[in-house]
Amino acid sequence: DARAPDVVIIGAGAAGLMCALTAAKRGRQVLLLEHANKAGKKILMSGGGRCNFTNMYTEPENFSSQNPHFCKSALARYTPWDFIAMVSEHGIAYHEKKLGQLFCDEKSKAIRDMLLAECERAGVELHLSTAVQQIDRTEAGYLLSTDIGPVASPSVVIATGGLSIPTLGATGFGYEIARQFGHTVLPTRAGLVPFIITDQLKDLCTELSGTSADAVASCNGESFRENILFTHRGLSGPAILQISSFWQLGDAVTINLLPDHDALEWLQAQQAARPNSELKTVLAEVFTKKMAGLLADRWFVSKPMKRYTAAELRDIADTLGAWQVVPAGTEGYRTAEVTLGGVDTRDVSSKTMESLKSPGLYFIGEVLDVTGHLGGFNFQWAWASGHAAAQYV
Ligand code: FAD
Repeated sequence: DARAPDVVIIGAGAAGLMCALTAAKRGRQVLLLEHANKAGKKILMSGGGRCNFTNMYTEPENFSSQNPHFCKSALARYTPWDFIAMVSEHGIAYHEKKLGQLFCDEKSKAIRDMLLAECERAGVELHLSTAVQQIDRTEAGYLLSTDIGPVASPSVVIATGGLSIPTLGATGFGYEIARQFGHTVLPTRAGLVPFIITDQLKDLCTELSGTSADAVASCNGESFRENILFTHRGLSGPAILQISSFWQLGDAVTINLLPDHDALEWLQAQQAARPNSELKTVLAEVFTKKMAGLLADRWFVSKPMKRYTAAELRDIADTLGAWQVVPAGTEGYRTAEVTLGGVDTRDVSSKTMESLKSPGLYFIGEVLDVTGHLGGFNFQWAWASGHAAAQYV
């Protein structure tokens, strides 16, 4: 005898938990299956342990997708303010770190526990350490083979997320199910991920490891101004993570290390104002002393400003204002915050998240080809898409 809930949701991550609690509040009988031993492991890890749970300035422009209009409807129907209301109701203290990014004052666990408490209150039946082996179509809907036995349901929600951080439970299961039911899965790759540098810049990165600098990172027509961070293996920091989502193997990334100045004008002004100061001293105005010294000695010959010719100054300006970096690769899914690509949204209803290929099958969250920028947008997409599907399951 199969269990027969109104809806079965696979994956108790951000999107699955939101969908479960919302559908259960509508009076649906919800079965939520999670193969890991805990729900919401990524929520626990997120935002450096303080969960950047939304962004106050969420707009469709903050997302990448082959189908940029897809995310609009769900985002408009469940806004950051809706999530903030739930957070406030649970007495969870939070603050804006910068750029609209809302973080918990305390631990991420508060957000995960809030979602679990809402699920429990609404009557969601959650099973951890429960894998789904197979999903078949039946006349009445779907039949699932699972670790808790057969489950029959007219509505199945795939909320299994992307491929990033396999040790937190990520699998390609959602993509397999999508293909099984006739969906196209767009090529996936790691996003919001540090770069690995192996060329002559590697030593500089290693020596500067731990140092950060305000910069603009640009690639393929996109630009982000934030910190970059030198690491033992290459480059990281928010500006690098952001631009990594737009980078493809072989592309150069342009980094402007003097984002507040026109590099040449600034250097010329320094030359006029302090002709006897060495370049490394001048650069220490904008970079840490260590970084200024290393840049001055490695990239240029550090000498008093008055001794640079106009052409030499122009070279320095070009390097500082438009440093060209060709990463050898990224750290990959091991450390990526998100997966780019995924289930092609052109075969999914933007209103209901239901498959246009197989009625009663829904896709929400990161398994879809919708990827947010860094800054709380990925969770907002998980909440909004989960909430949207929950109205129709
Ligand atoms: P997930 O949250 O990944 O949930 C998917 C769930 O499905 C998991 O519990 C998984 O175990 C389960 N699952 C997978 N396969 C199966 C299967 N076969 N059977 C059953 N269950 C399965 N975004 C932000 O907005 N702000 C942040 O601060 C932030 N920080 C992050 C930090 C880290 C280290 C990482 C990795 C990501 C971070 N993100 C952040 C991104 C964010 O976590 C994801 O975009 C979001 O969790 C996606 O939600 P989801 O529900 O689609 O997938």
